[in-house]
Amino acid sequence: MLRFIPVIFLLAFLSVSCKPSDIASGSSLEQTHDTLVSNQSDIDLQDLAREKEQRLATYKGSRERKFDLIHTSLDLRFDYDSQWVIGQAELKLKPYFYDQKVLELDAKDFDIHHVWLEGEAGAETLKTSYDQQVVTIYFPQPFSAKDTLTIGMTYTAKPNINSGRGSQAIMDNKGLYFINPHQKENKPVQIWTQGETEHNSKWFPTIDSPNERATQDIKLTVEDRYLTVSNGVLTDQVLNEDGARTDHWVLDLPHAPYLAAVVVGEFAEVKDTVDNIPLRYIVEREYEQGAKKVFQHTPEMVRFFSERLGVEFPWPNYDQIVVRDFVSGAMENTTASIFMEALNLDEREAIDSEWDYIIAHELFHQWFGNLVTLESWANLPLNEAFADYSEYLWMEHKEGRDKADMHHTVSKENYFSEAGSKQVDMIRYYHEDGEDMFDHHSYAKGGRVLHMLRKYLGDEAFYASLNYYLTTHAFASVEIHDLRLAFEKVTGKDLNWFFDQWFLASGHPVLDMHFDYSQPDNIVLTVKQQQDLTTAPLYKLPFKVSWYKGEERHEAEFVLNQLTQQFVLENGPGTDWVVFDEALELLAERQTYYGRGHFEKQVASAHFGIARYEALDSLSNNYPYDERMQAVLKAALEDPFSSVRQLAMAKIQANLDSIELSATEEERILTLAEEDPENIVRSAAIELLNRIDKDKYAPLFLRLVNDSSYYVAGAALAAYLENENNPNREALVDRFLDNNSIYLLVPIADYLTVNADVGREDWFHRQLSSLGGESLYYFIGYYGDYFARMGDLDHGPAVAHLYELAKNHYASYIRLAAFQALFGFIDEEGVLAKVREIHAAERDEGVKEYQRFFLESYIEED
Ligand SMILES: [Zn+2]
Repeated sequence: MLRFIPVIFLLAFLSVSCKPSDIASGSSLEQTHDTLVSNQSDIDLQDLAREKEQRLATYKGSRERKFDLIHTSLDLRFDYDSQWVIGQAELKLKPYFYDQKVLELDAKDFDIHHVWLEGEAGAETLKTSYDQQVVTIYFPQPFSAKDTLTIGMTYTAKPNINSGRGSQAIMDNKGLYFINPHQKENKPVQIWTQGETEHNSKWFPTIDSPNERATQDIKLTVEDRYLTVSNGVLTDQVLNEDGARTDHWVLDLPHAPYLAAVVVGEFAEVKDTVDNIPLRYIVEREYEQGAKKVFQHTPEMVRFFSERLGVEFPWPNYDQIVVRDFVSGAMENTTASIFMEALNLDEREAIDSEWDYIIAHELFHQWFGNLVTLESWANLPLNEAFADYSEYLWMEHKEGRDKADMHHTVSKENYFSEAGSKQVDMIRYYHEDGEDMFDHHSYAKGGRVLHMLRKYLGDEAFYASLNYYLTTHAFASVEIHDLRLAFEKVTGKDLNWFFDQWFLASGHPVLDMHFDYSQPDNIVLTVKQQQDLTTAPLYKLPFKVSWYKGEERHEAEFVLNQLTQQFVLENGPGTDWVVFDEALELLAERQTYYGRGHFEKQVASAHFGIARYEALDSLSNNYPYDERMQAVLKAALEDPFSSVRQLAMAKIQANLDSIELSATEEERILTLAEEDPENIVRSAAIELLNRIDKDKYAPLFLRLVNDSSYYVAGAALAAYLENENNPNREALVDRFLDNNSIYLLVPIADYLTVNADVGREDWFHRQLSSLGGESLYYFIGYYGDYFARMGDLDHGPAVAHLYELAKNHYASYIRLAAFQALFGFIDEEGVLAKVREIHAAERDEGVKEYQRFFLESYIEED
């Protein structure tokens, strides 16, 4: 699974969510009176025991396997009016080891009509009891592990009952979702499912646990206009007498229950293939051409991962489906990954698609998660660390190491942000709910730990070990030790220390470093570990130091394994500069004083793009914008790494008052705007040219509003509309009014708001109701601003729309954006009451906290 939250929301949220850590207050043992000391010790001991009892109560091991589920057959119809699933299930299973007289199946919020046992003499009705979560089925006599039983059940599943409990990773727990079931909303009618963690038992009876696995076949009866997707292969389709159609999907390789999925809706399918594996990209019809671009690298990805791992794609086929209102970023159901609607792009939007990482993530899960599956949610990094790291592997292969390293650095920052308020073991047997595992520890930290492991062992050893792990545990459940044992078996190395400190402990290294240059041919590096040793390990940390003699690069490897340690580099004569962990491979906070001269050399000559980026960032944040700085920034416009060019332009733009640009330098920026291979760099160059001379470049902007890239066209449109001297702005606005790219809509909304353009309220309402996902998130602010600024307008409808979104939208970041926008009307009658009502009704604790922050700051100002 991949969660998705727009970056802006994340940053804003993290800044208010940091709580002081709960450090236990010092005990009272310092009291001098002997009896007091002993009483106090008793109390302390009781407290300690209670604490340990509480901890034990949250222990989440793997579920005991009383039965082995062998096969699940489902026959499903859907009641759109009531949003129910009308189901018949047949489960083939056998006792796992011990004799069993009772079978417990997960079946959440069902009406169970009939349960029977298939026998030679026909079906025998079984006695059951049911608490709305688990149905207990009583057999007439005990069965042994030699017996194979077939249990039948007819039921009605009501997924909307008891919904609303989400997590960081998914926004709800219905398991199965009806989208626009009554056809009253401006979106297609769809059904889709989200099983992870244990939500598939909301729509079929099963042993809903990741250490279970079974083959399956699913019959779906739907209106003939709908396409269906499920796991495995569509073996036949039958048109029934009533006009409905029954599709039969078969997966004859076993997988865990949480990976089962169903999608129903009106879709177009783009067919593709790789090495005899059929691939489909399934999207709403209007995005068919876009899907060909968005998913175009899938065949190359399948081949790349298969070759690296030495394990063929494990399943018969692979579908990728984009649905509406998805509760997460994406989900890796076996052979049928489901994606959020942000991947619905038209052909032109798809030019700048940046979704390869999410496509790689779900694809890699088909090996790590689906072929080899965690035995319990406590081991979630065995799924998510790999999927997260696959994003790096793909980017490195396709776009080069620099871009992959940038992605790696952003992930590191995500983890560090989370670590500011929460540091837990990666493998956590003690947690409240499986959903709690879906955090930046399991993903970002996990991916970074795998990166360090790969860099420590080397590529050949890394991939050989993964091959051994996947082939040894194919179609089986694993825990973290299986991964360590695979690496140890293949490499012959002990890796207990590595797994202990990274997977089974909390925290990360905090390093203080100092270079002593007093003997320039033999520089001495002193490293101190400064993390809190009461909660984090003292690390054994293999690391690299590199130094440059002119163009010549040298590198040496060392191992830190003390609190404070000195390393003699033996670098020899002619060393210009030296740097610790140049490629930023280590997951560590670092404090170093390098100095201005060092950073300048690093920007100019570091081998790794990420090292040049980091140095430019440090330099431009810490030193004056004098001639020296300007020379560095101007030179960085030529850097081969696009992020460095982009950063240089951002810094020049922010400090334009103190920067003198020559004609040649301005010409260089113009070239970047026209010709840079990265559209995001071109748009940054357009913004900069707009600041340099908005009138001179107006004709350029007017030409570039027609660029095929929305990044470029959007930046050009914004630049042109912003300048009051430009003619025909209103006509330009009218020309792009019906465009549906957020990159063009934002400058238009901004223009209409700034110019208080009357009579545009219908346009704002229309956009608000048709946009979704991230685009809607960005648009809401402009929507609120427009109406708040138009004092003469009736604000009623705008407030009502924002209220509806803030209270009822499925996505927490949309609810929050709408909540914020309502503050533009807060002094109007009844709005404060509405805002309070929304706050009281909000069920997501994270959103509630952020709302509280807003409300409080308003009330304080008041
Ligand atoms: Zn994932």
